Amino acid sequence: MKWEKILVRYGELSTKGRNRKEFISHLRNNIRFSFVDLPNIKVIAERDRMFLTSTDDSEIQELIKRLPKIFGIQSFSPVAACTQELEDIQATALKIIEGLDYEGKTFRVTVKRTDKRFPMDTYELQRAVANHVLRQFSGLKVQLKQPEIELRVEVLADAVYMTAQVIPGAGGMPLGSNGRSLLMLSGGIDSPVAGYMFLKRGVRLDAIHFHSPPFTSERSKEKVMDLANQLSHFGATVRLHVIPFTDIQQSIQAQIPDNVSMTTTRRMMMKIADLVREEIGALGIVTGESLGQVASQTLESLTAINAVTTTPIFRPLISFDKLDIIDIAQKIGTYETSILPYEDCCTIFTPSCPKTKPKLEKVEYYESFKDFDDLIKEAVENREVISFPTKKKNEFENLL
Ligand code: ATP
Ligand code: MG
Repeated sequence: MKWEKILVRYGELSTKGRNRKEFISHLRNNIRFSFVDLPNIKVIAERDRMFLTSTDDSEIQELIKRLPKIFGIQSFSPVAACTQELEDIQATALKIIEGLDYEGKTFRVTVKRTDKRFPMDTYELQRAVANHVLRQFSGLKVQLKQPEIELRVEVLADAVYMTAQVIPGAGGMPLGSNGRSLLMLSGGIDSPVAGYMFLKRGVRLDAIHFHSPPFTSERSKEKVMDLANQLSHFGATVRLHVIPFTDIQQSIQAQIPDNVSMTTTRRMMMKIADLVREEIGALGIVTGESLGQVASQTLESLTAINAVTTTPIFRPLISFDKLDIIDIAQKIGTYETSILPYEDCCTIFTPSCPKTKPKLEKVEYYESFKDFDDLIKEAVENREVISFPTKKKNEFENLL
């Protein structure tokens, strides 16, 4: 099938009043960026939909593969064009249906007669097209209400446009439309999913990872680099800040009673994350925490961890069940990497019975015997920053 253009529907964007222009412009830029290697594509952005055209059909075919990965698109439809001649309209309708999995499906034709000079009325044209299709494909059944295949025909002055497919987009909002946050990225299943969910809301991400060599291996760091790289596939460059965390963890072991050392570890991570966040000009911190999953994720623990900063800490997975998180991890392709068996700095130093309800005053009291500030500053200064540029050309495989 030769497609003339693609119709893109914005979804949530269209409800965003005065910010609409800015959102559409982010989406247009992101779509443009996804086809820098396809020179003939043109973008025409309208108030509530966008058209992508190309003189080269193979470019349109390639776009159909790439568009489902771009946030801010609700759905899109490849559109064919023909002349106003009835024979031409009927032949194009056949070609479109032929390309679909039509056997045993319900079907209807919907005509929009924008050019009122067109000689047949709406009903006549609907019938003429439907009958022609049904004669050819006996496996189809007409059903006017909620058919599985709806062939939409729009008669314009210079051409007739036709489409029968609505391909779901990734939803969400265009990347860049909601600022930047810092993602606390472990090697686990949850934090990459939390990052994905923020990318999907249009937030650009830096990631921070705490690494404790020699207790955590080079392989465990590479695993996190892999995950950061995978997140960069969703359309934005991800910078990963790797924090040397060994000295701090050893000080915590030496100074803080076992049953609250986990809470202090998290608090130190959060303090460091907040300093890095400030330096890069991000507005929030994102974690993969989920209520009740482990000892450090009770309301009491989260409260004690939060107390180190007034920066908003976002936990998109807080009320998710683990199985639902795994489901998303599998869909976005991070799961296989996340389950590789490399140690995390938190698991290595995990005490045998951490307090599930740590008291903030107690934790602060124990911490007051040691000046962690210098160690924190040093860790921030000695961090390694690795950049994962987003992918431009034919690197869109293995996504979503
Ligand atoms: P995940 O699957 O994301 O590792 P988890 O269920 O293993 O989560 P925890 O290990 O308690 O839970 O971690 C909770 C959150 O703290 C993580 O989702 C992540 O945001 C952050 N975190 C934990 N360890 C690290 C680390 N080494 N570096 C950066 N962030 C971390
Ligand atoms: Mg973890």
